[in-house]
Amino acid sequence: MKRATIIGAGLVGSLQALFMAKRGYKVDVYERRPDMRKLNLGGGRSINLALSDRGLKALKAVGLQSAISQMAIPMHGRLIHMADGTIGGLQPYGEQGQYINSISRGGLNELLMTEAEKHEHVTFHFDTRSLDIDRDKNEVLLENTETHEQFTTQADVIFATDGAFSAVRGSMVKTDRFDYSQHYLPHGYKELSIPPAEGGGFQLEPNALHIWPRKSFMLIALPNLDGSFTCTLFLAYEGAISFDNLRTEAQVKAFFKEHFADVVPLMPNLVADFFGNPTPSLVTTKCFPWVYGNKIALMGDAAHAIVPFYGQGMNSGFEDCSVLDELATELNEDWPTVLDAYQHSRKPNADGIAELAVRNFVEMRDLVADPFFQLQKQVEKHLHRRHPERYLPLYTMVTFSDLPYAEALRRSQVHDSFFIEAGQDLMVMVANNPQEGASEALMDDWVAEIERRY
Ligand SMILES: Cc1cc2nc3c(=O)[nH]c(=O)nc-3n(C[C@H](O)[C@H](O)[C@H](O)COP(=O)(O)OP(=O)(O)OC[C@H]3O[C@@H](n4cnc5c(N)ncnc54)[C@H](O)[C@@H]3O)c2cc1C
Repeated sequence: MKRATIIGAGLVGSLQALFMAKRGYKVDVYERRPDMRKLNLGGGRSINLALSDRGLKALKAVGLQSAISQMAIPMHGRLIHMADGTIGGLQPYGEQGQYINSISRGGLNELLMTEAEKHEHVTFHFDTRSLDIDRDKNEVLLENTETHEQFTTQADVIFATDGAFSAVRGSMVKTDRFDYSQHYLPHGYKELSIPPAEGGGFQLEPNALHIWPRKSFMLIALPNLDGSFTCTLFLAYEGAISFDNLRTEAQVKAFFKEHFADVVPLMPNLVADFFGNPTPSLVTTKCFPWVYGNKIALMGDAAHAIVPFYGQGMNSGFEDCSVLDELATELNEDWPTVLDAYQHSRKPNADGIAELAVRNFVEMRDLVADPFFQLQKQVEKHLHRRHPERYLPLYTMVTFSDLPYAEALRRSQVHDSFFIEAGQDLMVMVANNPQEGASEALMDDWVAEIERRY
């Protein structure tokens, strides 16, 4: 029986275990941490993620579509909470029926592990971390984290899905001609929570992603099935408005009262959450090659960690799995050829979504409340409605299609420069009266011109 080794049982590693099990491999997954399903997480924080089409496509390929739909809360658009306490209208993410899904990170990870384990030849080895890789032997050096016993294992193919600070990538960094970069944002983040309403139910609209944009910082909230919301504050570590200046209970309370007054009454645990939770950093990592020797490949955050502002980190990691699986079929599991095709296909797209994710931070914390930004979004919506196949707004390309990320980035650059030239008056006309003959003719011309520039 052919053997696959996977290092890291996070979201991407657990999904990759399922893909390899379906190919009939004996799969061994080595995870540094204990089995999360056996830890008593009751009363713990519920961290959620936005799952969208690329991730769903991969989950569908392993037969998990219906299980996922029962765990997810649809979010149809953004609800913007202004500084004066008013809430703007819903800014839809796409057309009717297009939405992203709020899903529990732990719940999804557990589901993937449990589904993978249903295959007779899949084994998860917890409390076991990888220390090093031998590319000539296709061998991994592992250590039991409790007994410190070390051992090696070999396989026909090895996938390193050990996250943004990948130990396998660490081994690769030490070799010749390996490109690596990491870039930290000046911002960190803090997870906070809004509990369910007394007697049950949600304290805010559940089918939306809530944003409190405040230019250099922002708060967001995503719903959970139990009626609570997980909130994330993104704020600079240093400077006038920063984590550095939120050191006392009084400072935290004053900061929230000044900038997020409407949410304070909904957060009875604000101070405890704020001081109890860590303040992690936000990093983008890039590297190349992703393949070591010819049978060891990086996937997910180990290959391309990105900042979370497009909600695409997990989705792009899941897309790594589905693209790799398609290539494995196409190339008859000739792993050296498959892995080489995989890295060349995925690398430009990983770079593309990395850039878009950083750009979306500016959009979320600042531009969502900007009139020109909103005007452009409205015009784009009308262009898409009139020419659904020919004009896709950026968010639609990234979130509701599987167009390569690099192509989505390239097209969005064409869009942005086009709208700067288009003239605000004409855009206002189209936005306000999209069904008038003059607007329709203009939109037809615009789409033709944009296509010419692609
Ligand atoms: C605040 C925040 C919000 C986010 N929101 C979204 C979102 O809305 N949508 C989205 O798509 N993405 C989101 N992401 C990104 C997403 O969390 C990651 O892209 C995703 O978790 C990557 O999965 P992974 O399996 O590659 O890595 P991880 O989830 O990090 O898993 C890696 C696993 O490897 C294990 N491991 C590490 N080292 C070793 C070792 N030496 N040996 C064995 N095991 C090891 C770890 O314990 C872990 O279980 C967000 C990220 C952050 C930080």
